[in-house]
Amino acid sequence: MHGRCFDRWIQSLMKDIPIRHEQIEWVAGHQDPAASKEAALNDRADRLAKKAHRRPDMTMPWPTWAMDEYTPHVEGLGWIESSLRQHVDYFMARLQLQHLKSSTIQRLGITDVNYMTGKAPAYMFRHAPSQYSVMPLWLSKSGQLPTKALLEERNMLSEEQSSDCYFACQQRETDEHIFLHCKGMSVLRQEATKRLQANIQKILDELDLTEHQTNRLTEAATCYFDDGWPWPLQQNRYWLANIPSHLKIEIRDMTIEQQSLVRRLWTTFTREGVQLAGRIWAKRQQAAFKDRQLALRNSADSADNGDIPI
Ligand SMILES: [Zn+2]
Repeated sequence: MHGRCFDRWIQSLMKDIPIRHEQIEWVAGHQDPAASKEAALNDRADRLAKKAHRRPDMTMPWPTWAMDEYTPHVEGLGWIESSLRQHVDYFMARLQLQHLKSSTIQRLGITDVNYMTGKAPAYMFRHAPSQYSVMPLWLSKSGQLPTKALLEERNMLSEEQSSDCYFACQQRETDEHIFLHCKGMSVLRQEATKRLQANIQKILDELDLTEHQTNRLTEAATCYFDDGWPWPLQQNRYWLANIPSHLKIEIRDMTIEQQSLVRRLWTTFTREGVQLAGRIWAKRQQAAFKDRQLALRNSADSADNGDIPI
């Protein structure tokens, strides 16, 4: 309980009421009340305190008149008289948590713990022909991929546009929807899965791994573009060039050739993921373009017919 205002109140009372002997003395507690006047007063105070425990509804109102003029108040918590810095930290952390729940920064936050990062081949980021594939990765990672969901959040959708996906899935068009769940992209995902399986199998044939490790990696390649195993927290993030860290293989005791094959393994997973994301985004952009053209044609037709375009 914050007692600063009580303390100030008592101090002000002591100032205002003329007390003959202004001296405060310490008295040992739990003495026989008959022993002295101080012991009797102490016993009386104890009894009153115990009574308050039995009747918690009988609480004394806060002497707010003795509070600092700018004491902060929080709904549900009351007055904050002390430890203000900790309270501010706490509320700022809660606000940030709310923000993280719906932002892509969450992905960046969990990246370090659950994913192996930095496994994407450098040429993808340096060579112009492959940079289009990497663009959705950067945009999504920084929360800037212009999906309908993002445009709606920024009030950039026209009145006729809904935030639904372009492929009649009747789902909001978010990053996750496009890359993971969209029906319109299922063929691209299936093709990418086949390619990934074949490429991973080629590397595994040359790699000297245990049967358990080989089976895990084969299985991971089979469902790499689905939302489930092997992804941590069942949150697939293939388009962000991440690999689940539990697939990691210890390479310290391997030969140089075997180590290089393991690196090729990770490169293959990330490359296929990023390239699939590039293809998916390209298909989505084509659909958005067609949709825009259709809307323009419709408004031109209605203008020719003398209708007022809505
Ligand atoms: Zn869809």
